[in-house]
Amino acid sequence: MSLTKQDVLNMAKEANVKFIRLQFTDIFGIPKNVAIPVDQLGKALDGELMFDGSSIEGFVRIEESDQYLRPDPNTFTVFPWRPRDGSVARLICDVYTPDEEPFAGCPRCTLQKVLKEAEEMGYSVNVGPEAEFFLFHTDESGRPTTITHDQGGYFDLSPVDLGENARRDMVMTLQEMGFEIEASHHEVAVGQHEIDFKYDEALATADKLITFKFVVRTIAQRHGLHATFMPKPIFGINGSGMHTHQSLFKNGENIFYDPNGPRQMSEEAYHYIGGILQHAPAFTAITNPTVNSYKRLVPGYEAPVYLAWSEKNRSPLIRIPARRGVGTRVEVRSPDPSANPYLALAVMIKAGLDGIKNKTQAPAPVDKNIYDLTEKQREELKIASLPGSLKEALNELENNVLIREALGTHTFNRFITAKRIEYQDYEMKVHQWELDNYLAKF
Ligand code: ADP
Ligand code: MG
Ligand code: MG
Ligand code: MG
Ligand code: MG
Repeated sequence: MSLTKQDVLNMAKEANVKFIRLQFTDIFGIPKNVAIPVDQLGKALDGELMFDGSSIEGFVRIEESDQYLRPDPNTFTVFPWRPRDGSVARLICDVYTPDEEPFAGCPRCTLQKVLKEAEEMGYSVNVGPEAEFFLFHTDESGRPTTITHDQGGYFDLSPVDLGENARRDMVMTLQEMGFEIEASHHEVAVGQHEIDFKYDEALATADKLITFKFVVRTIAQRHGLHATFMPKPIFGINGSGMHTHQSLFKNGENIFYDPNGPRQMSEEAYHYIGGILQHAPAFTAITNPTVNSYKRLVPGYEAPVYLAWSEKNRSPLIRIPARRGVGTRVEVRSPDPSANPYLALAVMIKAGLDGIKNKTQAPAPVDKNIYDLTEKQREELKIASLPGSLKEALNELENNVLIREALGTHTFNRFITAKRIEYQDYEMKVHQWELDNYLAKF
């Protein structure tokens, strides 16, 4: 699908659109938008709308703050929850400088740069994510709590599961917005849900993830619930991940599939795995960018901790689902939904492509539960671990030239600086755990 300016103008007219939200994200993946009345749409589609980027995270300083928004016509979507009369639509935009260059702090442009590289190698990249989330109740003043709908207690009189209703509404809304929903189900933990949409070309999937999170939150709110993509909201139960399924296509064929290769996988597939494993310690700061992310990446909760791959077991970083043919894919299990989807896909794809370029060898698969191995057994098998904290992850990131190249120096530096401040703040604060353990004791 490739829409033109005229297509968008026609569609806006047909749907009686009165306002358009021009969306983009900051380097942390937080969506921003500027609303324009429909009579400005033509100008917007010509990339003539300017905004002041100086107050956006990861953007620019005051003296160089003029930025231009270039909407991607293919992202035109009418929001289904407004009355048709005077409806609202959105367009996702790239951010450009006054010199007509992609802005170095625009995450969508960063992903496109990596995808260009894939294209030059003859590949289109397909990605399918599984973003998990919790649905919690809000308190009397509307603030989110960590009380789940299915935990019983306050709300257990109602026979209706509020969460299930909300999820059904989310699925229908997403479908109206053009998502193909493959599955939606309650997850392992209480109050935890997953909605899977069909894989798409990487840029379209990253765009969809931004929309997905926005829709899930909005619909939850309408049901009086709070949806959170925080990776580990509750100690002792599974956190929320965003397993990311990836495959490369060439002339419409999945090149990870080779009926004659070991396990019916191609050399490219093995090298892609090799590249991901090699660079995972460095890209973890991007795929798992919060202090809280590392409380999910611990043994025992179906989250990966170790740098290994497997066809069967779900404890390693990478799983190769059993499907072959068009569905042959690499599932990276470490990312969580607090990541900026554009940057997360950019760094993983960059790592995989680097594996193919350098013919990086994948180690032998590990088909046992790595959680059950002793440290010594892991050493013998040469199984290393993912970074254990945001601090460690930032140190790994800082020393990786390839991931720096994927992000570009501007985003790389701003990201690290901001995240170091975030970590330092966390380290200096006194947490509930300390009070629980020390206040009475000393
Ligand atoms: P899991 O078994 O880990 O729960 P699923 O089988 O539910 O995973 O698949 C999750 C995602 O994988 C979906 O978004 C699906 O569309 C996607 N997927 C399927 N085939 C491919 C492919 N060839 N490339 C990338 N993603 C794919
Ligand atoms: Mg799943
Ligand atoms: Mg599944
Ligand atoms: Mg899941
Ligand atoms: Mg999965």
